[in-house]
Amino acid sequence: MAKIQMKNPIAELDGDEMTRILWKVIKDKLLIPFVELKTEYYDLGLKQRDDTDDKVTYEAAEAIKRLGVGVKCATITSNKARMEEYNLKRLSPSPNGIIRSELDGTVFRKPIIVKNVKPAVSSWKNPIIMGRHAYGDVYKNCEMEVTGPGKAELVFTDAQGKETRKTIMEMKGPGIIQGIHNLDSSIESFARCSFRYALEEKVSLWFATKDTISKIYDGKFKAIFNRIYEEEFKNDFEKAGIEYFYTLIDDAVARIMKCEGGILWCCKNYDGDVMSDMIASAFGSLSMMTSVLVSPQGVFEYEAAHGTVQKHYYRYLKGEKTSTNPVALIFAWTGALAKRGEIDGTQDLVDFANKLEKATLDTIEAGLITGDLAKLADPAPVKILNSWEFIDEIASRL
Ligand code: NAP
Ligand code: MG
Repeated sequence: MAKIQMKNPIAELDGDEMTRILWKVIKDKLLIPFVELKTEYYDLGLKQRDDTDDKVTYEAAEAIKRLGVGVKCATITSNKARMEEYNLKRLSPSPNGIIRSELDGTVFRKPIIVKNVKPAVSSWKNPIIMGRHAYGDVYKNCEMEVTGPGKAELVFTDAQGKETRKTIMEMKGPGIIQGIHNLDSSIESFARCSFRYALEEKVSLWFATKDTISKIYDGKFKAIFNRIYEEEFKNDFEKAGIEYFYTLIDDAVARIMKCEGGILWCCKNYDGDVMSDMIASAFGSLSMMTSVLVSPQGVFEYEAAHGTVQKHYYRYLKGEKTSTNPVALIFAWTGALAKRGEIDGTQDLVDFANKLEKATLDTIEAGLITGDLAKLADPAPVKILNSWEFIDEIASRL
């Protein structure tokens, strides 16, 4: 059989532990036999990042920007324990954080739905995609505890040294104070990434804040989204038959519980943190959740939402063939290949990605699944497979 050709390469970012092991199995069994794979390979394994002082991570981010499409394996974010384990020179920042800031991108998470794993919310028929703003607010706060009465003030000193003051509270006793901020430029990028991704997925976009209470702060989020929608995206949304819908966050939460899904729900940083964990667990499992980083210029990096599955890796090192679920990693590849095909106009490649996704879902729906889904599956699984057997089953259907 002639292999499917790729016009242009994608940036391939390898990673760590169990996901690194599965990465190779997926390539060997599900990709290389069918596609003349063209990638620019970057090894983001922890040791390699440490040896290059993260240069490899910056090079990989640059490659994603240049090529337009990237696919990333899960990577370890170093901490003290990892420093000892891998004999590292230093603690380095999260590679996902580096790439996110290099691309000025927003992360969107989308559950992968199968018939035999039912969402906890019975009305959900289609995926609810979450978009979370990843800058500022309470994640970059400045807070203070005060021990007695006094005046709490908000002071801004502009570049010319001019001060603007507002009283937060004449405090009658001990208490707590917090200052937070955001930047128009960051909110604008978030809005553009969100509108672009909704068009990409052909789903309506919901955005919600609490602007009735926070008239200036949350009001600014609302105003920026509305302006960018009107000026840059309204025509394309109407052509695509999708809508942009703004509401209050509590109203959005109530509506989400009654909707059918098939929407993109964008949230401010804190709301997104909390709500994305709720959506993920209500849809089943992190191993059935894909993640894509979208830049405002329309550059895409696909990955799995889960980490490197450390515990399974240690069992693998002892010789166990673990039943780690490779679905989110497979979908990271299919997402990237389909996007490459779409940009390059190579329909073969898009078709291949769709067939690989279908073969994966068919395998699960036939009751052949990995251990993590066994407890969730209804009807009960036909057979629980290890990762290698599961990938072989997909390959035979493909
Ligand atoms: P994790 O890799 O997400 O795994 C946590 C637990 O979730 C696993 O022990 C396993 O539960 C279950 N799980 C996750 N993915 C699974 C899969 N594909 N199949 C089956 N079960 C799965 O989180 P972690 O072990 O806490 O973190 C390990 C490393 O990942 C850390 O060093 C962290 O820095 C990194 N991380 C990277 C990313 C990324 O690169 N995107 C994201 C998050 C974390 P059981 O043990 O109960 O089977
Ligand atoms: Mg969280």
